[in-house]
Amino acid sequence: MLTYMCNSECDHCFVYSGPNAKGTFTIKQINQILEESLKIKTIKSVYFEGGEPFLFYPIMLEGIKIARSMGFKVGVVTNSYFGTSEEDIVLWLRPLHRLGIADLSVSDDPYHHEEEKDNPAKRVFAAAKKLGMAVSSISIEKPSIAPSIDEDQKKGEPIVGGGTMFRGRAVEKLIKGLPQRLCEEFTECPHEELRVPKRVHLDPYGHVHLCQGLSMGNVWDTPFSVLVKEYNAESHPICGPLAEGGPLLLAQKYDVAHDRTYVDACHFCYLVRKALIDIFPQFLAPRQVYGFLSTT
Ligand code: SF4
Repeated sequence: MLTYMCNSECDHCFVYSGPNAKGTFTIKQINQILEESLKIKTIKSVYFEGGEPFLFYPIMLEGIKIARSMGFKVGVVTNSYFGTSEEDIVLWLRPLHRLGIADLSVSDDPYHHEEEKDNPAKRVFAAAKKLGMAVSSISIEKPSIAPSIDEDQKKGEPIVGGGTMFRGRAVEKLIKGLPQRLCEEFTECPHEELRVPKRVHLDPYGHVHLCQGLSMGNVWDTPFSVLVKEYNAESHPICGPLAEGGPLLLAQKYDVAHDRTYVDACHFCYLVRKALIDIFPQFLAPRQVYGFLSTT
């Protein structure tokens, strides 16, 4: 996560990015992280994301250059805010293309762009294709209510579709009016491989996120390669219970008072974690991902 800053402030953003969000990597820090990533051996790809990484274009470009020189595959995720005209987009993209990036992912959905037919994301997508870049589109729909097709649920019971993850700002902004399910149903984490993580997100404060706001540890205190080597979900106070019994077990283990129903497992998990933030500040971090104002 090159930066938490973003020109937009989307309702579904699970890291509370926005124009006033603090925290951006320096090039020295990026270099340090990439050198540590090399030592880990199993890391093959590095993505530059945010926030919006194109806001710090020269730092992103230099970071990509260093990552490519070390042999990493590189991807970039953007909301395409710079997509004004094809001629201008090419000026932004050509340096990335020359560095041989393996994927440019553009967010093209109702959260990021109101116009469906011609919007900055579609223009960036088309220009990237024309340049011969590998480009893909990410689309998260706003929550929709649909009849359940899950056999474990009662036939016809509504579920929430659309792909929005109910963490971060989505919990504050998008929950109202959505159907909820009993908390007893949430006995596993449905999205992350907490025991054997396949990817992590690093932020400028040094947190290694296994899921947004759930940190393995801090790379400014312990080298990244050491953190990864020593990580064991079972001895992690939050990942242990989550991996064993999902948000329900996490709440039970630490006796967290909770509601009877939640929209999904992430909604439950996020609120239990938020309630535990002062007990495990090094693992539930940074606070801004839980909606508390950042001060640095
Ligand atoms: S919020 Fe919790 S349940 Fe959802 S993916 Fe993250 S760790 Fe898993």
